[in-house]
Amino acid sequence: MSIEKLLIANRGEIALRIHRACHEMGIKTVAVHSTADAEAMHVRLADQAICIGPPAAKDSYLNIPAIISAAEISGADAIHPGYGFLSENARFAEIVEAHGLIFVGPKPEHIRIMGDKVEAKRTAGALGLPLVPGSDGAIEDVAAAKALAREVGYPVLIKAASGGGGRGMKVVPDEDQFDSLMSQAKSEAKAAFGDDTVYMEKYLGNPRHIEFQIFGDGNGNAIHLGERDCSLQRRHQKVLEEAPSPVISAAERARMGNLVAKAMADMGYRGAGTIEFLYENGEFYFIEMNTRIQVEHPVTEMITGFDLVREQIRIAEGLPLSVTQDELEFHGHAIECRINAEDPVTFMPSPGKVQMLHVPGGMHVRVESALYQGYNVPPYYDSMIGKLIVYGRTREGCLMRLKRALEEYVIEGMKTTIPLHQKLIEDPDVQNGDYSIKWLEEWLERQK
Ligand code: ADP
Repeated sequence: MSIEKLLIANRGEIALRIHRACHEMGIKTVAVHSTADAEAMHVRLADQAICIGPPAAKDSYLNIPAIISAAEISGADAIHPGYGFLSENARFAEIVEAHGLIFVGPKPEHIRIMGDKVEAKRTAGALGLPLVPGSDGAIEDVAAAKALAREVGYPVLIKAASGGGGRGMKVVPDEDQFDSLMSQAKSEAKAAFGDDTVYMEKYLGNPRHIEFQIFGDGNGNAIHLGERDCSLQRRHQKVLEEAPSPVISAAERARMGNLVAKAMADMGYRGAGTIEFLYENGEFYFIEMNTRIQVEHPVTEMITGFDLVREQIRIAEGLPLSVTQDELEFHGHAIECRINAEDPVTFMPSPGKVQMLHVPGGMHVRVESALYQGYNVPPYYDSMIGKLIVYGRTREGCLMRLKRALEEYVIEGMKTTIPLHQKLIEDPDVQNGDYSIKWLEEWLERQK
């Protein structure tokens, strides 16, 4: 069924990204926004805009009745949830479909399975993906869990089944601390997610975070679009991402890519998804699947020339995948810097009014941002105000271009993490691609 009008249930740069894909496809857009976002860029550009509530996300961007009403009033025939907010809420996807609207995303049952990390791991294992050694499902019997911990070896990690954003995780260094750290993990999980189910994994010492982008048509066909290396993280939040990973060979990419694509085909997965792995000593270990478009999707677009948001919309319309695996080619290198309205040293949020804005340009430089001069960055939401994505034929060329693009980027009126990125890409380890998920926090310590 073709989509004529699409409601964007999100804000910021991703709302603009979706709007752009729609207009390039001849699809009209409906923006929904909180009172704090009345002047937002996507609201200005959309064909229609509807206020759905006060600033707090729970009353606006998470307000399902208000969003469904906005779709009905505007006559939208589809809803794109973006990332964050309602994007991985299976109930929302069901409600959208129950209203006869197209949900631009996976089947609700797949969102539900992958949202529960214990279920996700079980499913991934059954589909043949390599797992981190650990408990088979939730920890029910503490004595058995301890026996298993001894077998896989300490340290182990206790993780919340409903966890997200790195919360509800505890590293257990030895058996003496097992009981106390497990009860801490449980109470944190209960408080944060209303679910105290926990499971256990071997704690990998120094892995990289490598994730595969996949697409399924919902009818048993799926492709992969290679990997992204997102190892540069602070407090489990990605800071800089690149594709391809500096440590994955073409043969390895093809082997793992085909494995994940086959798993998604067997599952009957629909739309865009990301399979996240930890990678250590040449081995991949599945950690979770994200059933949505990701913040870092543009690096994949840059090296494949493939528009992922456009493909999401096409799949939602019931069209087949627009390329076969054989037709997809990987060229060159792309890096994304997440620019946050934060102090680059203390990471304190720094919302404010954009007094001056100069966005870098030139060949192979892409900025995904909803900022404009005079815009007031509201304090209520995520601090990411833009993404700078740069392409180069080689990784060295990409880094050189990134350096000059960062030099050009001027945002006045608030502190941003641009200086952090400038310093980061000068580091020899980053230049050599020699880093793990621990690297950035250790580097930040050394800068103090
Ligand atoms: P969340 O959904 O909370 O982000 P993930 O399972 O994706 O949880 O894990 C978040 C991060 O925690 C990973 O990117 C990695 O840095 C770290 N992590 C997760 N599992 C392990 C593990 N078994 N060993 C070491 N680090 C891990």
